[in-house]
Amino acid sequence: MTPKVTRTCARCGQAFALSRARVGSPYASFCSNECITAHKVQLAHLRSSDLERLFGDHLREAGLAFVAQYPLGPYVVDLAFPQVRLLVEVDGEAYHSSPQAQARDDRKEQLAAAEGWRFLRIPQFVIERHPQEAVRTVVEAYLSS
Ligand SMILES: [Zn+2]
Repeated sequence: MTPKVTRTCARCGQAFALSRARVGSPYASFCSNECITAHKVQLAHLRSSDLERLFGDHLREAGLAFVAQYPLGPYVVDLAFPQVRLLVEVDGEAYHSSPQAQARDDRKEQLAAAEGWRFLRIPQFVIERHPQEAVRTVVEAYLSS
């Protein structure tokens, strides 16, 4: 029989029994796979909003004015440049992978096109690893209107 220790889940706050074998292992402070998943989703979300903020700073430095979290019908778009009717969305890996998320992105893009916007998607990893390239892509789209 594996001895257990009692812990309080870092996500839901419930007490749970943790086998001593798992003490010190990744996610040992969570009671269940559900709580681990919820924690990962929250982390991914925090990470992507930090990244958007950073990207926004780069764009402002490049002299572009934009509106963040722009409402478009029932949707919200990461960045909008209303003067040139350009929308920019940061494609986070964690958030845009499920078929439902993909379908929602497609509908968003169709609505944008129907209302006369151009729609530009920039993968999160490009912003992370090549921020100047991502800025240049937006600047080019901005100037080509
Ligand atoms: Zn829990």
